[in-house]
Amino acid sequence: MAKLKFLGGAGTVSGSCYVLEAAGKKIMIDCGSFQGPPELERKNSEPFDFETDQIDYLLLTHCHLDHIGRLPILVKQGFDGKIYATPPTIDFVELMLEDSRRVLEAKARKDASLIFYHEPDVRRIMALFESATYHQKVQLSENIYFEFFEAGHILGAVIIRIVFDEGSGERTIVFSGDLGQDKNCILRSPETIDRADYVLIESAYGDRLHETQRETKDQVEDAIEETISRGGVLMIPTFAIERAQQLLSHLNELVENKRIGSLKIFIDSPLAIKATQIYEKYMEFFNKETCALIKSGDDIFKFNNLEFTPTIKDSKRINDSPPPKIIIAGSGMSEGGRIIHHEARYLPDSKNTLLFVSYQAEGTLGRKILDGEKEVEILDQKIKVRAQIKSISGYSAHADKKELISWLGAIRKPIKMVFVVQGEKVPAETLAQTVRDEMGVDAKVPELGQEVELQ
Ligand SMILES: [Zn+2]
Repeated sequence: MAKLKFLGGAGTVSGSCYVLEAAGKKIMIDCGSFQGPPELERKNSEPFDFETDQIDYLLLTHCHLDHIGRLPILVKQGFDGKIYATPPTIDFVELMLEDSRRVLEAKARKDASLIFYHEPDVRRIMALFESATYHQKVQLSENIYFEFFEAGHILGAVIIRIVFDEGSGERTIVFSGDLGQDKNCILRSPETIDRADYVLIESAYGDRLHETQRETKDQVEDAIEETISRGGVLMIPTFAIERAQQLLSHLNELVENKRIGSLKIFIDSPLAIKATQIYEKYMEFFNKETCALIKSGDDIFKFNNLEFTPTIKDSKRINDSPPPKIIIAGSGMSEGGRIIHHEARYLPDSKNTLLFVSYQAEGTLGRKILDGEKEVEILDQKIKVRAQIKSISGYSAHADKKELISWLGAIRKPIKMVFVVQGEKVPAETLAQTVRDEMGVDAKVPELGQEVELQ
């Protein structure tokens, strides 16, 4: 009988990793790292407690580290099967693994044991990739195949459907990966799946509703107008993949339609600059409206007064540019990257604004500032926080509760079981309860390490 084991993403957002044993094959879906308290993060460099060389295939939903971060461990421990992903995901995986290796090396100046992989390991991993695109049925053996569907979360992200037959008829299991919002400004919406016996659904926002895109754009516009009128600096800490490109496309719209006054806009993140190049390489994955805009001659990632600053020298020159100006830089939670240099310089002045456009995890510098701390430590200096602090939530790359329920609602019933994964306890349990109450479908939140039989 087919079996499914939860090696991560169970009762927690991160560490997405599942092993399906079906029709004589062992397939791993995602191989993500854990993010959170140190005891959880320690698992990231620990070996898997089973024979990883017995895994036949690995399928990846997308390139975020909480879906790929344990790849180096898996491969070092003997996995040498094929890794299937979409072409953009393959490009992003290389970028992410290289970047996180550099971050580890910087941290390792204090603790060398932190480094758990090196450049040759990344090359070994990349050699295992096999690309598959949306709606291509990939036969893994006579009785099992998989298919990718659009997840609308970030460029190249997929929902995975695996169909197998162990002699008692076809069974279908769907892994949602991370699902995007319905109205993404660049990407297509998540696709609906017509049928499934088992569904693993993410629940990062399983208990919340988002602001709309319109409200989000208006809030960005307001923050810019205020910055211009005060002659200040608008700092936006951002994730390099997807959030940076969404921001660029919104700013492009505001600039080209002359909705905002003239000011310099800097993209001060080497990773975001490289990620934007990957977006530009795969424009066929964009939604109809964006494709039409590009066809009409509007390059959504280029506009007046926009400057990319890839090198340190370029980055330092931003200081000389007189305000008003906008600086978009990583990391998204101010845990490093170039944003902290700008924060140290500009937070003490009330003319300036720090605008959060993504979730700030507990314990991060971003969260401390968002929670209203009036003095923070940055680069071993005590910095007074007098700048305006703003936060908008509408940019989320995740579907909210309503969108998750509607995605699940489109699957033809009966569904044997819904496993609610990739969410903290409260959102996951809330979503599971709603699925049971509103859809009459059995739903549960699995436990880390739990194994279930699929009838
Ligand atoms: Zn993700």
